[in-house]
Amino acid sequence: MPPADLSPLDLLTLAVGAALFVFLVYATAGSWREGEPRATALFALLAVVVPAPYGLVGGLGFRGEGAAALVLLAVATLGLLAWLLPLGRSLRPWDDTPTTRIDERDIMFSRRLLEPGTERFAAHYRKHPAHKAPDDAFRAEPGLLGKGASAYHPLAFPAADASFWTIERLRPHVDGAVAPERVDCDPASVTTFLRHWALKLGAVSVGVTELRDYHLYTTVGRGPDWGRPVELDHTHALALAVEMDKATLDRAPLAPTVMESAQQYVASGVIAVQLADFIRRLGYPARAHIDGHYRVICPLVARDAGLGEIGRMGLLMTPGLGPRVRLAVVTTTLPLTPDGRRRDPSVTDFCLRCRKCAVACPSGAISFGDPADIAGVTRWQIDQEACFTLWCRLGTDCARCVRVCPYSHPNTLLHNLIRTGVRRSAPFRRLAIPLDDVFYGRRPAPAALPEWMECGGGP
Ligand code: SF4
Ligand code: SF4
Repeated sequence: MPPADLSPLDLLTLAVGAALFVFLVYATAGSWREGEPRATALFALLAVVVPAPYGLVGGLGFRGEGAAALVLLAVATLGLLAWLLPLGRSLRPWDDTPTTRIDERDIMFSRRLLEPGTERFAAHYRKHPAHKAPDDAFRAEPGLLGKGASAYHPLAFPAADASFWTIERLRPHVDGAVAPERVDCDPASVTTFLRHWALKLGAVSVGVTELRDYHLYTTVGRGPDWGRPVELDHTHALALAVEMDKATLDRAPLAPTVMESAQQYVASGVIAVQLADFIRRLGYPARAHIDGHYRVICPLVARDAGLGEIGRMGLLMTPGLGPRVRLAVVTTTLPLTPDGRRRDPSVTDFCLRCRKCAVACPSGAISFGDPADIAGVTRWQIDQEACFTLWCRLGTDCARCVRVCPYSHPNTLLHNLIRTGVRRSAPFRRLAIPLDDVFYGRRPAPAALPEWMECGGGP
């Protein structure tokens, strides 16, 4: 049919086919750039198969082409509505406000520091006899960055250790002397300044909340103040997140994972230490909470500061990068303007059905079930002993759960279009879960080490 003979229905069909072609070519190129061969091949195939019927029906004259065009347009419209319509937005968030505080001495990072033969060691297991058997299990493994660990790498492990060493150099500076004279600060202006400066320093998201009782540990579990009650009379907390590199995490649970984790703890820690020092120069007490030197539970603070929601794997899920972030917090008496929590029940609704992290978890630490009532709070809780024992076997911090989570995809137009649909529409959420498996695999294998890391002989 010559172009002049094309009806408005033909032209519309051709336009929709062209739009689908452009989008699918863009998705193919984006997946190729992300190093996702399976998604690249599938999008390339779809770029041929999906627009073809629109081109044929819109461009060729044949009996019944009008009806065929209407069917194709109806399919495209349904797809658009399933993505766009705010269906399922009446989801009711469950109550996840903690009613009790956590003793930092009970978490694995504190328990791993207990030395057999010491009174502290004996006292802990007298108080918590149930911890003894699982803790003996992780102590029987080579340990984090240990030489006999299964993911041992002769260069990557010392490199991660060098990053942890750097974090220790920051420790004396998490707190410090406060300038004797106060600078008068308008809360809104200084909050804006802090937010923009943190972003300029490398944070990907920043939020502020009033500091709440349940944000604080009850007792210090690490460092020279071990055993002291946590007393922090600060009123506000600023939470910041830095991105963990996607390509590196694709190698989880191999050695690059722990290098990346450690490095991003350094990056977030440096920003937090700088912000805290800046606030003290304004004449207000401030403390940075960085890896190994926390008085607050960072994911809870970050959640209440509007940075995201806490999902099945117990980590903060940010809107743009999912759990693929590292957090740090600054607490202070400087009056700031809180952002407040941005509740997004679509995240927990997605987690209810997805379970991809539970499938991929090599230690079985992540629950497949619904969230449970734990000390009056409805939430998922991972088996921290099983998770940590695996870390000690691997020598790395594993992160398979973070790597496979559909929210961890890069912050690009393609993935943000999908995230928009996931946030808005329950039908789209249901569709997105199996499609993520099809395009990226349900249990994707760890990517090979980069060439530049092979020089040490590999793991
Ligand atoms: S992998 Fe799925 S279930 Fe697990 S945290 Fe991510 S979205 Fe939730
Ligand atoms: S870090 Fe590894 S072992 Fe721990 S919960 Fe995630 S997948 Fe499981």
